[in-house]
Amino acid sequence: MDDCIFCKIAAGEIPSNRIYEDERVLAFYDAAPQAPVHFLVIPKEHIGSTNELDNSNSSIVSHIFEVIVKIAKHLDLDNGYRIVNNCGDDGGQTVGHLHFHVLAKRRLAWPPG
Ligand code: IMP
Repeated sequence: MDDCIFCKIAAGEIPSNRIYEDERVLAFYDAAPQAPVHFLVIPKEHIGSTNELDNSNSSIVSHIFEVIVKIAKHLDLDNGYRIVNNCGDDGGQTVGHLHFHVLAKRRLAWPPG
């Protein structure tokens, strides 16, 4: 997608602090971290949000979760972490490309605001 910031990050047109990459996904640190460790995992393919997942593309989600487990081990997130997906306006989504936040290294409150 031409005007999608995360597509541009995936294509290397916008720099990012990358943690992990394979043919299907990219993980990079969030530019405005909300915890000592805060990274995002995105599909390289443009998927606008969770609402655009269906039987044809949803296998990317299990792959993303497997990647998160790998990164968590690599970053020693032994004390736990939170995975967040914001969907749509009420969900607080600001970038229209599917992404999962991973927040760690501080005790997170519940429920979220
Ligand atoms: P959302 O609010 O769930 O859509 O999350 C979007 C996230 O993308 C926010 O946490 C932003 O800080 C982050 N973000 C936006 N632009 C960039 C960037 O260029 N690099 C890294 N993170 C970004």
